[in-house]
Formats: sequence, structure tokens, C-alpha cells
Amino acid sequence: MKDPNDTRDTAPRAGSPLWIHLSVVTVLGLAVLGVFMARLTGLPLLIGHPLFWLLATLIAAGELWPIVTPGKSGPQSPVISLTFSFAVLLYWGLPVALLLRSLAIVGVGVAQRQAPHRIAFNTAHMVLSMAAAWLVLAAAGIRPSPALHRAPTGGELRFVLLAAVAYFVLNYLLVGVAVALHSRAPVGSTLLANLPYEGFVSLVLLASAPLVTVVMATASALLVLLFAVPLAAIYLNAAMSVQREHQAHHDELTGLSNRKLLIRRTGEALEAAAGSGLRAGFLLLDLDRFKEVNDTLGHPVGDRLLRVVADRLRHSVRPGDVVARMGGDEFAVLLPSIREVSSAREVAARLRAALAEPIRLDGMSLEIEASIGIALYPDDAAGFEILMQRADIAMYLAKERGSGVERYVADCDRNSPARLALLGDLRVGLGRCELELHFQPKLALADRQVIGMEALVRWQHPLRGLMTPDEFIPLLEHSYLMREVTFQVVDMALAQAARWWRAGMPVQVSLNVTARDLMDVKLADTIGCGLRQHHLPPDALLLEINERVLAAEPARMVTTGEMLADLGVGLSLDDFGTGYSSLVRLKRLPVSEVKIDSSFVGRMLDSADDELVVRSVVDLVRALGIRSVAEGVESAEVASALRKMGCVAAQGWYFSRPLNATSATAWLAEHGCAGSQPANGSQPANGSQPAVGAARAPLPRDPAHPPRVMR
Ligand code: C2E
Ligand code: MG
Ligand code: MG
Repeated sequence: MKDPNDTRDTAPRAGSPLWIHLSVVTVLGLAVLGVFMARLTGLPLLIGHPLFWLLATLIAAGELWPIVTPGKSGPQSPVISLTFSFAVLLYWGLPVALLLRSLAIVGVGVAQRQAPHRIAFNTAHMVLSMAAAWLVLAAAGIRPSPALHRAPTGGELRFVLLAAVAYFVLNYLLVGVAVALHSRAPVGSTLLANLPYEGFVSLVLLASAPLVTVVMATASALLVLLFAVPLAAIYLNAAMSVQREHQAHHDELTGLSNRKLLIRRTGEALEAAAGSGLRAGFLLLDLDRFKEVNDTLGHPVGDRLLRVVADRLRHSVRPGDVVARMGGDEFAVLLPSIREVSSAREVAARLRAALAEPIRLDGMSLEIEASIGIALYPDDAAGFEILMQRADIAMYLAKERGSGVERYVADCDRNSPARLALLGDLRVGLGRCELELHFQPKLALADRQVIGMEALVRWQHPLRGLMTPDEFIPLLEHSYLMREVTFQVVDMALAQAARWWRAGMPVQVSLNVTARDLMDVKLADTIGCGLRQHHLPPDALLLEINERVLAAEPARMVTTGEMLADLGVGLSLDDFGTGYSSLVRLKRLPVSEVKIDSSFVGRMLDSADDELVVRSVVDLVRALGIRSVAEGVESAEVASALRKMGCVAAQGWYFSRPLNATSATAWLAEHGCAGSQPANGSQPANGSQPAVGAARAPLPRDPAHPPRVMR
């Protein structure tokens, strides 16, 4: 199986060490081949013999299907033709062996469209290795020819063994040096790494050759053919395990390395870089508008586009570099050995340039752009996880700045070792479902009906206990984990909403998302799927975004907002008053609710300024047709003052603290809910009036008698 990252067919640069090595071996090998072809005698004798044609066929078939085993694509993949060509050397002599094997190599090379320099080199190193074996045999007086064909005797076996060793050593060296120079890996370690495996397999293949000659001496083609059976079994077995290994380590769609293989290759690269004092580069790449293509043109086109992208990325890196697909439209590139940051930047620029070229699919011309983040070993991180995190921070920065490529800079990263440790814990915790949601009711001030439940995430840390979002969300903001947290929260919130709706408590659940989530165009998709899966109408969900994200307002965020609006899911502007956002911005996003920050609400009875802020916001959002909600209402007095001001709804400890799912369900059952209501108070988008909750005892209207304050 051909490694997709294998670009061995690109000709080496003239004058480079690899070029010199290949040229010397090729010239010498072809010269030796010429000499021995001139000495080829007795061919007419053989041509009429079925044994000759059988061996020619077996050698060609062996060349066509090399034995490749998992993880062992070292200097050379052993070929079954080795057994038969070595047998021909022992039985009919070197010229016939060279003729058959050279023809097989050239034939297979041409059929597989290998580059001419590669075919020539493959022929040449085989010729030189065979010639080395022949020298040993000739020195021992073993000189077979078509006229004097014979199988070696028992006493000659030691010379045959020596000849086999000569073949293996020379061949292994010639190919090993070429592979090491090609992948820019140290020659010594490349040779040593594969020696035991290739030594063993070559020994097995070469040791079978004298047996083949004994059978050839019986002149029975059928008996020789029997040798193909065990060898074919070895081949098939190896091919199957390679296929399994390939599937486990490669992305099915694009054939690129997957995350698992990337982690392994990065580990190896960092080790090698540490030894050689070089750097390793890690690039994380995300397509900027892939989602739009996928949505408008459908997944099959999206898949084809990803394959083209993968192909372009693969052809834009040097041999030895690893291109991997991390999932979706996210790719990573590992540069195992670079000297300067500028080399990584060059590769990044090359990758972007390769993608900038319009892609033609189904007669359409699609333009794709990518944002790339760069992190370097050892400058930025010492291991895979942190390299990945830092490349991700840089990529996010590239998106935010619209610059296309950014290198990780510590200034933009607030990750201390303690934060990184916590991020590591969270990564594990996400897999163990350590996140849970608590819910806090939101009530209409006019009639104390429950109009929503805000989902607030908690993390049940195995050592630290229950952690509130303030302790871990800010730390995630520049991390790729944020997306996973949000997706789990969306999942859990929708599942809980569905349980309530099924139980006759059709309450709107709101959840908090960050600016980064809004830049993720997959969010709307996930939410849409989740709603359908749980048979929930869109107004069963409301997304709360912090007012400060409006300040940046990148185009992508507006797109997500519009996609959510298309779905029918509203946006709520959280912590309003802290971000100084302008009215213009408020109108630009499809906002249906504004939550006045608790810092103003909490002080409104003591400070005239704060009271003025709250009053102005209430008036302002009413004028815009948006629902006002006061956050952090802790007393009856505040609730009452807000109601008089005309504030529509409120949330706070006075009504209820955030409750776990079981307590929240009991609370809802006890207090009832007003059903899912569009934030601005109009009819639900689907026109249906939600079912009335099972228990709808209205909450006491007298502020002196709070409904139930759970502290
Ligand atoms: P937020 O969205 O403004 O949520 C309100 C916060 O105020 C909650 O804190 C709530 O427990 C607290 N609170 C409610 N009533 C009162 C009150 O009467 N007095 C006081 N002093 N506080 C009150 P919590 O749960 O610690 O959440 C803090 C922030 O973390 C949230 O602020 C929200 O921005 C963020 N957050 C919570 N869950 C998620 C989530 O799933 N994803 C994201 N991205 N952020 C979340
Ligand atoms: Mg909130
Ligand atoms: Mg808030």
C-alpha cells in the first residue's frame, strides 16, 4: 500500500546528497548490468523451457506485490521475487537472474507510472547487490550457467549463505541511505531501526532459494509452483495486517494520517529534534468557509472538496512532513525538522497559496481560504498536547485578526502551568462526563410565571469537587476544548428540555455560549440537529452571549447569529451594561432578550446612578421590542422596583438559586411554567400555544412572600 504522504517520486534537487547518491548507484548499477547482459549466453536454451517462463512470472508477480507489514515500511519492502531471482542466480547464473529481475522491476515500474529515476535506481541497487552475491559464489568456485545449471550441494551451503549476506548488506545500505537522505532523517538510526525486521524477512526469503533450486533440478514446473503457495500466504497475511493498520491510523475520507498517527509521529519527531538540536513545527489549519459549501452544495460535494484540499496539502509539504486530518475541516501539519520559525511560516504560506487556487467541482469554481496557527518545539511546547493547544491559540488569533497565519505568542496566551494542568484534567473529565448542568428559573415579573430556565454548567472535578464556570470557562476561551464543552452543554440542555417538555412542562432553556462558539459555524448545525432529534421546537432554546462579544463582531459571528435566527433560535445578550455596546450593534444581531448585569441590579436601590442605568436599559430595550431581564435579583424590594420600572422578567437568588436537574424538575412541577415563549412576548414561531404545565400554582405576587428562596 502506498503511503499517501510518500512523495518519493519527486526528483531530488540536482547536486543534493540524495541526488549524488542516486546518481552514483544508478550509473554503477546500469554499467554492471550492461557488462553482464553482454555475457548472457544460452538464452535460446532456456526460452523453450517452461521452468524459465514460470520463474520469470513468479519474479514479476513478486515485484508487483511487495511484502509490506504494519509500521515497517523501512529502507525496502522485501519482495518475494528475491527468493526466485536468487534461485535463478544459483541455478542458471547471474546474467539470467539480472535479466529476469530487471525486466520485472522495469515492467512493474512503468505499469505503476513510477518516475524513471526511481525505476533506474531500483534496478541499479538490485544489480549491484546481486553482483556482490555472485562475487562471493564465484570466489568459492560456484559458477552456474544455462548450460551448466545445477543446485548447490550441501557442502556449498555456507558459501550460499555468505552470498545471501553480501546481497542483503549491500542492498540494505544502498536503499537505506537513499531513504534516510530522502526523509532527512539520520542515516544511522534509520538503518538500525529497521535492521532486525528486514534482516529476518530477507533471511527467510533468501534461505528458501536453495530449496527452489533443488526442485528446479527435478525440472518440474509444477513442483516449483508449489513454492508460491507459502510465499503467497506470507504476502496475504502481511497485506491484511497492513490494511487493518492503515485503517486504524488514517482518515477514511482523505487517506491522510489521523490524530492517533499524528500523535505518534509527533512523539518520534520531538525525540529526534531533541537529539539533533533542531526544531519541530506544528501547524493547525482550519478552512474558513467550508461550512457554507457543505450546506449549500451538500455533503457529497463537501467530501470531494475535503479530498481535494487534502491532496493539495499533501503535495505542498516536503517528504517526511506529516499531514493529518483532525476531523471536520481541521487539518494539522507536522514539520519534523526545521531550523527557523521562517521555515514554518514558509510552509504555512505555501499551504494557503495551494488552497487559494479555485477548486473546480461539478463545473463550479469554489474558493477556499484557511487560517493557520503555528507552534514550535521546543520554543513553545515540549509535547504534543501543548503544541496542539498553542497552535490552536495561534489559529484562533489568525481567524480573529483575519491575517491567515499567526505564530503562537505567549502574550496572547494566559496559560500558566496550573491552567494547563486543569485543561488536561478537563480533557479527561469530558470523556468521563464530569460536566453537569444546574438550572436557574427566570420569571416574568408581572405574574411570577416561570418563562425560562438558564442552564449553568458545573464541573464535578474528582479532587476539587464541584467547580463553578468562573473557575474554568475563562481558561478555556482560547482552547480547542471550549467547543467540546459547548457541544456537551448543548447536548445536555436539549436532553433536559426534552424531558421537561415530555413531562408537560414546556419551558424554554437558555444556555451560555462564548464569542469563540459563535465563530464556529458548526454550532448552528449541531443545535438544529439536536432540536430535531429531541422533537423540540426552536423556541425551546435560547442562546446567551456576553455583551462584550459584540465589541469585536467579526462577520463570521453575524453569520452564525443569522443561521440561528433562520433556525428560529433566539439570542439573549448577557451581562448587558458591562460592554458599552452601541445601539447599532444591538440591532445588527438577531437579539430577542437583554439581561441587565447583576452589578447594576444589585446596587440599584443604593445608587441613583445604577438605578438610572437599569431604568434606561429597560426603556431602551422596550423601545427596540426586546425583552428585558434583570439578573442577580436577591431581594423582594429589588424585584418590586424592577416590576414598577417595567422590567419584563428577572432571575436571582430571591426566586431560586441554580438547582441540579432533579431539584429543578421538582421546582418546576411545584411552580408550573408559562410554557416556551418567544423572548419578545409574541406568539411562538410555529404558532402553537404550548401545553400548560401540570402543576401551575401561580407564585405569590406579594414581594413580602417570596415564592421559595433556596439558599
Ligand atoms: P451568567 O450567564 O451571567 O449567569 C448568572 C450567574 O449569576 C450564575 O453564576 C448564577 O449562579 C449567578 N447568580 C444567579 N442569581 C444570582 C444572585 O441573585 N446573586 C448573585 N450574586 N449571583 C447570582 P455561575 O453559575 O457561576 O455562572 C457564571 C458565569 O459562567 C455565567 O454568567 C456564564 O457567563 C458562565 N457560564 C455558565 N454556564 C456556562 C456554559 O455552559 N457555557 C459558557 N460558555 N459559559 C457558562
Ligand atoms: Mg447567562
Ligand atoms: Mg449574566
